[in-house]
Amino acid sequence: MRRVALLGATGSIGRQALEIIQENPELELVAAASGSQPIGGLAPLTQVGGDLTELLERAQPDLVLNAVVGFAGLPATLWALERGVDLALANKESLVAGGELCLAARERGRGRLLPVDSEHSAALQCLEGRELGSVDSLVLTASGGPFRGRSREELADVTSAQALDHPTWNMGPKITIDSATLANKGLELIEAHFLFRLPYDRIEVVVHPQSIVHALVRFRDGASIAHLGYPDMRIPISYALTYPERAATPIEGLDLAAGLVLEFEEPDTSVFPLLRLAREAGERGGTYPCVYNAANEVAVAAFRVSRVGFLEIAGLVEEALAAADGAAARDLEELVEVDAETRRVVRNELAPA
Ligand code: NAD
Ligand code: MG
Repeated sequence: MRRVALLGATGSIGRQALEIIQENPELELVAAASGSQPIGGLAPLTQVGGDLTELLERAQPDLVLNAVVGFAGLPATLWALERGVDLALANKESLVAGGELCLAARERGRGRLLPVDSEHSAALQCLEGRELGSVDSLVLTASGGPFRGRSREELADVTSAQALDHPTWNMGPKITIDSATLANKGLELIEAHFLFRLPYDRIEVVVHPQSIVHALVRFRDGASIAHLGYPDMRIPISYALTYPERAATPIEGLDLAAGLVLEFEEPDTSVFPLLRLAREAGERGGTYPCVYNAANEVAVAAFRVSRVGFLEIAGLVEEALAAADGAAARDLEELVEVDAETRRVVRNELAPA
């Protein structure tokens, strides 16, 4: 029996995780948290908002599924990693912003860090049990989002509602906007760097509109191993929650005879600069990824209420990165300060509401 704490229980990942937990007698939900929605009765221990580590202290779970959105998930990620409590991580923003701190905490805690992000779950499965020295490179796929193939001119006036209409994945609003700007793939690039300890020049992003191939690893002997499946987050959620058993799910395997077309193309970073900016922020290291994330969170929130246009999201992130010194953070407190300062800088750039 695995005692699970589910953070972000009312979200897209959270609700799908509840489905998986309810169907599996080996998983027991001992605690659940949301940001503001009421969740009383969902689990023996519940918490709405506040410091998530207080709930985790009370619950003492065997496994934390962190499905909170944004930087707010970082203390819970560190809590689990520090104590060696297994962590199923959907909250990629915490690993992007606090990568070095997370890895140091994981080193001390020595628990499992299991990615829930579909590409990273796929990459883990392609990489598992192999010598890192045999790996040539990792390929993360991107759907390309609803605006794939558009020019910058065509994107100037797109609305939040249009950006929220994702072609292949049904997700929470923040990640859906991030998918439209390709910031999601930028965050995932940094996430993959920290998870798999690969340098950035060995992680490639390729657009794959069907979202069937989730990741591919090239090995030095010329072989490549890919992970395929229909786009359904219950698969990587279940994989992380039941690792290494790989419990059954209600999702169908691939039907190749039905006709399966797989297309791939290079991402257009002149139209979607947030992917390029993430790579640069990741390569520069220090707190640049934290600044990238914080600026993006503020810019996306402003876009959702029509305070800035779609193209301005990238502009705001680029300006925030240019204004930052990127000095590494020694602890969570320093990182929280960098995050807060970045948010102040970006909010000052926004026109008054
Ligand atoms: P969502 O907006 O649907 O849900 C977010 C959840 O976090 C909600 O339960 C909300 O109440 C909670 N929350 C927000 N702020 C909080 C706070 N301060 N304290 C406690 N709880 C808080 O988002 P989502 O789409 O489920 O995404 C969650 C995370 O998973 C994100 O980091 C996202 O990038 C990642 N992810 C999501 C998907 C997907 O398919 N939805 C896929 C891959 C990765
Ligand atoms: Mg993903």
